[in-house]
Amino acid sequence: MSEKAIRKIVIVGGGSAGWMTAAGLSTMLRKACEIVLVESPEIGTVGVGEATLPTIRYFNRALGLDETEFIRKTQASYKLGIEFKDWGQVGNRFFHGFGSFGPQIENRSPHLHWLRLKQDFKDMPSYENFSIATVMARQNRFTPPSAEVPGISDAYSYAYHFDAGLYAAYLREVATGRGVQRIEGMITDVEQHPETGFITAINLRDGRRIDGDLFVDCSGFRGLLIEGVYKAGYDDWSAMLPCNSALAVPCEKSANFTPYTTSTARDAGWTWRIPLQHRTGNGYVYSKEFTSDDAAARVLLDGLDGKALGEPRQLRFTAGRRRKSWVKNCVAIGLSGGFLEPLESTSINMIENAIGWLIQFFPERDFQPSLANEFNRLVSQRYEFVRDFIILHYKITDRRDSELWRYCANMAIPDTLQHQIELFRETGRVVLYDHEGFSVSSHLSILMGLGVIPKSYDPLVNLLDFNQLHAHFRNVRDAVAKVAGRAPLHEDYVRRHVAAAAAARLA
Ligand code: FAD
Repeated sequence: MSEKAIRKIVIVGGGSAGWMTAAGLSTMLRKACEIVLVESPEIGTVGVGEATLPTIRYFNRALGLDETEFIRKTQASYKLGIEFKDWGQVGNRFFHGFGSFGPQIENRSPHLHWLRLKQDFKDMPSYENFSIATVMARQNRFTPPSAEVPGISDAYSYAYHFDAGLYAAYLREVATGRGVQRIEGMITDVEQHPETGFITAINLRDGRRIDGDLFVDCSGFRGLLIEGVYKAGYDDWSAMLPCNSALAVPCEKSANFTPYTTSTARDAGWTWRIPLQHRTGNGYVYSKEFTSDDAAARVLLDGLDGKALGEPRQLRFTAGRRRKSWVKNCVAIGLSGGFLEPLESTSINMIENAIGWLIQFFPERDFQPSLANEFNRLVSQRYEFVRDFIILHYKITDRRDSELWRYCANMAIPDTLQHQIELFRETGRVVLYDHEGFSVSSHLSILMGLGVIPKSYDPLVNLLDFNQLHAHFRNVRDAVAKVAGRAPLHEDYVRRHVAAAAAARLA
């Protein structure tokens, strides 16, 4: 070990971000340094955050978690994507599935060929028929991807819905098992080095002092260290992402155990429905500028498909990101680093990324500023790409039937997004600024789902024989239907999996 090596890391906060960070660092650092996590039950956690992106599987795998054990312990279900209802206009329904719309054709995205055929074949099947994730989800079926039919049965991915409290508890077990020390207490004061300004220790209300070399701020919206100490600043994006409130309430599980999240557009925002094994999570994300909390609660409760398990819980937020997530020896991960509202479930993914980048650019005690600069560049850039993708949903809808939707139609959007929309509208091409973020297929799902049909298509697709192409799409559609139809019902798949995990534990 170098003389400058970090000897002690202090993680402030024990929500999803804190315990994911603790589990990630304790796994990667293999007891090379001491790790302490401080949390205060008095303050509690936001307690929401139940839908994820497929990258969570890589995160869990890096921790060495067993999938069946994870599914059992967190009451999880599988997620093939998101069904959007009433977003383009009332009555409209489309699906954002995790995966492609069939194999590439001559190195070009299949949608470009589909657009060509669609011009002549008015009865060309909807592009959704070529997405295996979508077709499987619509039948409430689930099975993991396999190599059985190349280009079809491996052309999708999946994520999970889980109980956020149980996930944090599970990771706490993992992290403490790998040497992380948990301390319960309320942080009331922070000590800094008089010359460098580095944080040297945090003090608890009961008089305990916890010193450290690296401080990870997972304290939630308040940003206890990153904002409280360093005044890192916040880019407020609420003019483009106007939702600033949420009400969340679980309800009894219903028979409709979907392998997907449902997002339904409402007058002042949208509601979510997330099925878990033991209950269904629900919430209404809205702008308090366009409705009252009482009216929002009525919309939420009237839309439940099971008995509410308690009173709705209120949350407020400002969509945006911290100007810098890493300042001196403090790194903000989780809500302390920013929040873009839960549409498309990107927050936990942001936590995974930040942990990955912290490990990639892990410092020594001299904290070379270039490491922080690179970390901040990557985090900022990812926030911007995700921001654009979420704004896209609000901007291109045809809905004008309430104040929120009229506001969105007229609001200014980033030039980067404007360019993406124009390019697609005019030519059918999708441009990506971040190849590790949302894919071409994800953008297509939203653009076409919300009714944007390009005015022209890629002229090079005309080089292929029209009839052969038509036959190709028919074959892909049939293969997708066959593979999806063979998958077990989601309910059965989960039940079998959980039973197998329980049996393995007893054996
Ligand atoms: P918190 O959960 O707030 O944890 C903060 C921790 O800091 C707590 O342990 C607290 O005790 C501690 N703390 C704070 N101050 C002190 C102090 N003074 N002393 C000691 N301890 C202190 N994300 C998704 O990926 N998918 C979703 O579907 C999703 N849905 C969401 C819906 C809503 C309405 C909201 C608001 C968020 C949603 N998120 C979602 C985001 C997700 O909930 C968060 O990213 C995740 O829970 C991480 O939160 P956190 O750990 O950063 O903060």
